[in-house]
Amino acid sequence: MRSKIVAGNWKMNKNLEETEALLTALSAKLPDTQAEVMVAPTYVNLNTSVRHLESSTIQVIAQNMHFAENGAYTGEISADMLLHIGIDTVIIGHSERRAYFGETDEILAKKVTAALAKNMRVMFCFGEELEDRKSGNHFAVVESQLKNALFSLDAGSWSKIILAYEPVWAIGTGETASPEQAQEMHAFIRKTIAGAFDAGIAENVTILYGGSVKPANAEEIFSKPDVDGGLIGGASLNADDFVAIIKAI
Ligand code: 13P
Repeated sequence: MRSKIVAGNWKMNKNLEETEALLTALSAKLPDTQAEVMVAPTYVNLNTSVRHLESSTIQVIAQNMHFAENGAYTGEISADMLLHIGIDTVIIGHSERRAYFGETDEILAKKVTAALAKNMRVMFCFGEELEDRKSGNHFAVVESQLKNALFSLDAGSWSKIILAYEPVWAIGTGETASPEQAQEMHAFIRKTIAGAFDAGIAENVTILYGGSVKPANAEEIFSKPDVDGGLIGGASLNADDFVAIIKAI
């Protein structure tokens, strides 16, 4: 059985004080759930967040990491640094990293390999842009993103991979993919992985949807058979909204 996950990507939001306040509110309101609940605060607040949640089931994950082990990479963070403070899951390939920080498929493949080499879990993000969908290229784009970053993995690594399909046109725009569009793409992703690896791997991999998930649309999106949860941006910055989304799963 694949796990269900609701994860909050806080992006470049919340200073230390606001982070602690949100974690306190979330812990207090966290509903009983079978799903794994994760939050990804900004780097400077990761260590405090891990300590803050020591007795909570909420997991702290990182938004990014570098592929090098260590060394002269000013401004970067390594897998070992994350592991040392108790973080074993990292988001890789978010569309904002691709668009604003020049992260190519090739760089992302290196990051995935580096994280897996340290036995970390990778939440791998991908998704098409609006023009791709308008021109009917969305399936081809998603397939190539998956292929370039993940298809050279060995089969055993897939237990450490979480996929997050985030159509770029739905991120922070208020426009979500319809539940049918999400289901259609998630089924395509599973079929693509089954073709490249095997049906068991495809069946067991968790595939999250991300892009303007809110309390009002979460339940319908999560009800689709190939949607195993969500990666939430804006709505995860408010405890009540995030809790409502967790309840929807
Ligand atoms: P929004 O939920 O704000 O659209 O962001 C989605 C996202 O990018 C999560 O990683």
